Amino acid sequence: MRINLISDTVTKPTPQMLKAMFDAQVGDDVFKKDASINHLEQKVAEMFEKEAALFFPSGTMANQTAIKLHTNPGDQVICDKDAHIYNYEGGGVSFNSGASCKLIDGHRGMFTAAQAKAAINPPDFYHSPLSSLIALENTANRGGGACWDFSEIEKIHAVARENDLGFHLDGARLWNALVAKGETPAQYGKLFDTISVCLSKGLGCPVGSVLVADEETIHKALRIRKILGGGMRQAGYLAAAGTYALDNHIARLAEDHEKAKEIGKTLESLAIIKKVEPIETNIVIFYLQDDIDEKAFLDKLTALGIDLIGMGSGKLRIVTHLDYTAEMHQEFLKVIQKVV
Ligand SMILES: *Cc1c(COP(=O)(O)O)cnc(C)c1O
Repeated sequence: MRINLISDTVTKPTPQMLKAMFDAQVGDDVFKKDASINHLEQKVAEMFEKEAALFFPSGTMANQTAIKLHTNPGDQVICDKDAHIYNYEGGGVSFNSGASCKLIDGHRGMFTAAQAKAAINPPDFYHSPLSSLIALENTANRGGGACWDFSEIEKIHAVARENDLGFHLDGARLWNALVAKGETPAQYGKLFDTISVCLSKGLGCPVGSVLVADEETIHKALRIRKILGGGMRQAGYLAAAGTYALDNHIARLAEDHEKAKEIGKTLESLAIIKKVEPIETNIVIFYLQDDIDEKAFLDKLTALGIDLIGMGSGKLRIVTHLDYTAEMHQEFLKVIQKVV
């Protein structure tokens, strides 16, 4: 039995999900004739109480499309220094949109309304880039799956409105935040102009993300998605997995969160572990004692059937997910206590 805790993207479709995919009604989505995609887009739009939605092959493409919608070349995007759009999308903000990022030195991938306000360049000072978008990430990936305080989001929303800035949410793991905090998609739909959500992380789909916004914005997004090469044909087989996951895999995220917390407790009790970050959802970030060699530690785990990765600068990450079973969990807790 191999135990893969590298990411929640390592899951494979369940038999029931595969059946839903197999049974999908499909058509050519470039002509908007794929019934399964149309159904998924309508479903997600309704969940967020937004006018429209668009299916994407990746979260990166959904985020990059949103950034393109909100900016012109030369503009600046305000985000946290740990943001996925800045660290992990291959420099797409500059490549696709010709925009730069103003990085906020936040806490666990999150920042305050005061920090957002201070990051805005005065629009009449033409020497500096024009601030045009504030982008948040919930849960914050590099922040260890941290969840934003919703009242702070409301305050940042007010800052965005007062300064005529776009407001985007990278909600790749928003489902985890909703379950952890008892929030609803509609709460988020009310505040953000655009929201991207992933189906291929905690929800366990093989592929897929969705962008929600108003009708006019999604109409523009359709062209950008086409330019980026994301116009797909009979992709309804993938959308059917998404619909299945939205109906069956959201509430169970609480189980992933529970397991992550139990892992955190065990790690905290081990002498070789220096520190475990607070755990709110399905991500555990921890640090080894300075005299423990990271590579040797990871190699030892690999030999014992457990796959983990480092995030650099001494950070190690564990992500629980749909394919991490109760049996694997017991085995992992046993094995990790023996690795010294
Ligand atoms: C995974 C992820 C994305 C999208 O990644 P893709 O691999 O392109 O689907 C975006 N934002 C965050 C925070 C993520 O964790």
